[in-house]
Amino acid sequence: MSEPDYGTDVLGMQTNATIRDDGSWVINGRKMWITNGIIDEDGTPADVVWLYARTGTDDRGRAEITTFLVERGMDGFSAGQKITDKLGMRASTTAELVFEDCVVPAENVVGKPGESMIHLMRNLEHERVGLAAMSLGIARRCLHDMNSYATEREAFGKQIRDFGQIQRHIGESWAEYRAMRAYVYDTARQIELSEAGHRLDSDGVKLYATTAAKNIADRAIQVMGGYGYVGEYVVERMWRDAKLLEIGGGTLESHQKNITKDLKRDPGAIDS
Ligand SMILES: Cc1cc2nc3c(=O)[nH]c(=O)nc-3n(C[C@H](O)[C@H](O)[C@H](O)COP(=O)(O)OP(=O)(O)OC[C@H]3O[C@@H](n4cnc5c(N)ncnc54)[C@H](O)[C@@H]3O)c2cc1C
Repeated sequence: MSEPDYGTDVLGMQTNATIRDDGSWVINGRKMWITNGIIDEDGTPADVVWLYARTGTDDRGRAEITTFLVERGMDGFSAGQKITDKLGMRASTTAELVFEDCVVPAENVVGKPGESMIHLMRNLEHERVGLAAMSLGIARRCLHDMNSYATEREAFGKQIRDFGQIQRHIGESWAEYRAMRAYVYDTARQIELSEAGHRLDSDGVKLYATTAAKNIADRAIQVMGGYGYVGEYVVERMWRDAKLLEIGGGTLESHQKNITKDLKRDPGAIDS
């Protein structure tokens, strides 16, 4: 989906595909930030990528998007830059993918040509709920760790959980964790996998849960003091991983924008 010059403005994508007389397609463009876009340190491209490309423009001047499955070994498909200095999420690779006169057969088109806007929107909704669930896992682990550490660690002859300021870190984290859990499960239960149309809550839950996870990870580091800041206690990694969730799959600002737009169209959602 994302490109070097088009992230939040995803429909501005410039990667394009044109159909040939024999029904195959030629794709040109670059995709950026692709998770698992390469599979090893040598930069071997992924086996298969799910690619959105512009294949026309509709009456309103908006991009018509088509989905392609591009496979390693197809002419013109290669990996570009490897992104190696990420703050977090270092267990997955991230890379640029390059399509230079890449020829893809007709059977590798997913759905009907020009009709993938709906796939893209629906997949983003799923992704956002998934990333909110990932945030929930980060929050749970951090809450566990800060809670047990607050019992184990003593200062001034007392367990640190007896200090009011530590209680604030734990108490607020618990309440936020429970709120995000309820919102994640509620949204996941209501989502209809075959349809788009859940943007208000898929944006809302990601907006809330990602920042809550980052804040809970931050408190876990604080409760653990110097030990929280180093790798052995894991919570610093959780903090670094949580930060990406405020950016990938849509930035916080894009969720704020979408929610405000959707509530204008459907103010009744507030009472539902
Ligand atoms: C580690 C990592 C993995 C990723 N994996 C993938 C992947 O697998 N596939 C994929 O397609 N993408 C992936 N992404 C890309 C990610 O989705 C984009 O980084 C994200 O959508 C933001 O796009 P951008 O980085 O171009 O920022 P920009 O869109 O340039 O935004 C920069 C800033 O401007 C703000 N902004 C932009 N437009 C508006 C607006 N209209 N109103 C208010 N604020 C605005 C943004 O919120 C942000 O704060 C990944 C990114 C990272 C870092």
